[in-house]
Amino acid sequence: MKTKAQTSVFHRDLVNTPKMVSHADGVHVWDADGNQYLDASSGGNVVISIGYGVEKVIDAMTEQARKVSFCGAFTSEPQEALAQQLAEFAPNGLDKVRFVSGGSEANETAIKLARHYHVESGNSEKYKIVGRWRSYHGNTLGALSATGHVLRRKNYLPMLLPFPHAAPPYQYRCQFCSERSSCTLQCADDVERLILNEGPESVAAFIAEPIVGAAAMGMVADPKYFSRVREICDKYDVLLIVDEVLSGMGRTGANFAIEHWNTRPDIITCGKGISSGYTPLGAVITTNEIHDAVRIGSGAFEHGFTYGGNPLSCAVGSAVLTYIQDNKLVENAATVGSYLQERVAQEIGGLDIVGEVSGKGMLCGIEIVADRETKEPFSPEIAIATRIARRTQELGVLINPSFSGNVDGYRGDRFGICPPLTFTREQVDETVDALGRAVREVREQVRFE
Ligand code: PMP
Repeated sequence: MKTKAQTSVFHRDLVNTPKMVSHADGVHVWDADGNQYLDASSGGNVVISIGYGVEKVIDAMTEQARKVSFCGAFTSEPQEALAQQLAEFAPNGLDKVRFVSGGSEANETAIKLARHYHVESGNSEKYKIVGRWRSYHGNTLGALSATGHVLRRKNYLPMLLPFPHAAPPYQYRCQFCSERSSCTLQCADDVERLILNEGPESVAAFIAEPIVGAAAMGMVADPKYFSRVREICDKYDVLLIVDEVLSGMGRTGANFAIEHWNTRPDIITCGKGISSGYTPLGAVITTNEIHDAVRIGSGAFEHGFTYGGNPLSCAVGSAVLTYIQDNKLVENAATVGSYLQERVAQEIGGLDIVGEVSGKGMLCGIEIVADRETKEPFSPEIAIATRIARRTQELGVLINPSFSGNVDGYRGDRFGICPPLTFTREQVDETVDALGRAVREVREQVRFE
């Protein structure tokens, strides 16, 4: 007889079983012990864009489930409708949409699309993807090869694809410039250096998050960074893929974060907020040129996943995007989001353990340091960002622990405040009050350790 295990779920944290969620409504979540939390983390993974329990989405979902939830033999009205909506939501020139079930799948698709495009253009040697350090593009081995998040990679080396990584535009700890205000764009030039090093004839694409999420919450590049990157990509016939899985769908106060740089990418990948967590959904948006090269060439993009474009997820995506637009949530992310950035900076920005507060809209990152002058981080064992997130949770507010530790010389503990786009100023105040208290308390604790 087998003895019954306490839990059979193979959790990510093999030591601590996470709390059990009971239910959620609007921007609040309850655990199974009846504790209520204000969710300033968008479901912990920066997923929830429009809040929990939105009736219009639930209705769209149930109606579609009654009609047809899956039929891979045909396209469907929700898939066609959502593609149209996304093409209108995306920057000019990005009109063709391929659906998948999440962010990693979206980036796998983008990598293969870039390769296939070059094959059809007669450059079949172009297969490498240049990524950046302090980035996260997903956990499948292709997306992880492009990822520059050392902790996520370290137990799975060597990567299937030995992709090169450029220096991140990490202004707070730049390896090139000492001052944010005197950025010389050497981080962008590092992309060119890598392309030349690898041989431009072998490089298919460069991939980057416009504003970084999991690997360095809220890292924002210089205002000229992406136009310089665009020039470099054009010079060597390298496609520009922007990973908007976390930063997209209005979170930063623009439809897509790349719009803050006024730069047109060749491919955008989406996930998370696109379905606000009601169903798994992701998308890849690209140009007619790339679409047509693949279609006219071999006539097929031989790539897909069983659940890509399923009517149920697309009906949800369509209802979510309609809700975002009808309720002007991108505008709300811009205005309440800048209030969030200001309030966090006011409340904790002056503390001696806060290195920087950065981000845009509803994507705010905080870096904690042991010494503000030298920017020396706390030792990884202290796990200070995780402790702050845990204490804030005890005070009734969920935030996003990002990650602690020293990575490839880019050191630092960061965490994020990434609430749903529906957040109000009052909810920002409540979040910032709990955060301020948690940061001060943890600061006192570590002083005596
Ligand atoms: N790209 C980015 C920028 C992400 O933040 C994530 C998820 N944290 C992914 C890709 C992977 O998405 P998923 O977990 O849905 O596969």
